[in-house]
Amino acid sequence: MASDCPSIDRMRFDVGEFALDAPLVPFDGVPSLAPRRTVLDTVLVEAARASGAEVREGFLVHELVRDEDGRVTGIRGGPGSATVEQARMEIGADGQHSLVARSVDAPAYQERPPVSCGYYAYWSGLPTSGVEAHTRRGRLAPVCRHVGHAVRTQA
Ligand SMILES: Cc1cc2nc3c(=O)[nH]c(=O)nc-3n(C[C@H](O)[C@H](O)[C@H](O)COP(=O)(O)OP(=O)(O)OC[C@H]3O[C@@H](n4cnc5c(N)ncnc54)[C@H](O)[C@@H]3O)c2cc1C
Repeated sequence: MASDCPSIDRMRFDVGEFALDAPLVPFDGVPSLAPRRTVLDTVLVEAARASGAEVREGFLVHELVRDEDGRVTGIRGGPGSATVEQARMEIGADGQHSLVARSVDAPAYQERPPVSCGYYAYWSGLPTSGVEAHTRRGRLAPVCRHVGHAVRTQA
């Protein structure tokens, strides 16, 4: 709600020969929303900061720091690579290609080879008030209403 995104009021699933179209009703008073990642991330970061978390933007972790037993005791990084932060526990929340996971040889599980790919584009002026999915010849093209734009993906 803090994103000021327009609510998504309808959902349409179009398979070519016919289409299913239905209203999306709010859940617990909250409508469906699809904020852009940059918008959502900013809302989350500001909420974390307001809750007392120290947020350092533009800070890149270069490597883990270990003690003589090999136990991870912190990280080295920064805008340069000189800053060392020590911690009793480190959480690697650095995404799909996590440096932290690689550095500690974390075992991978539930791995699947890629079977598809997607393309994103932002369009203004598309006549949609909700989220749509169009399937044609084995491809799926969702269209979703955004702040001032619609985003279209294809896979
Ligand atoms: C195009 C696209 C559309 C998606 N749509 C949806 C959707 O509709 N619904 C859904 O549920 N999921 C969706 N996902 C999946 C979802 O985005 C991910 O599952 C989710 O973001 C993973 O969260 P995460 O916190 O593990 O990693 P991330 O969100 O990737 O966050 C990792 C963070 O760590 C930072 N980082 C990485 N390395 C370092 C480093 N060395 N030092 C400092 N910082 C570092 C990155 O900059 C990033 O900010 C989508 C993904 C993509 C790519």
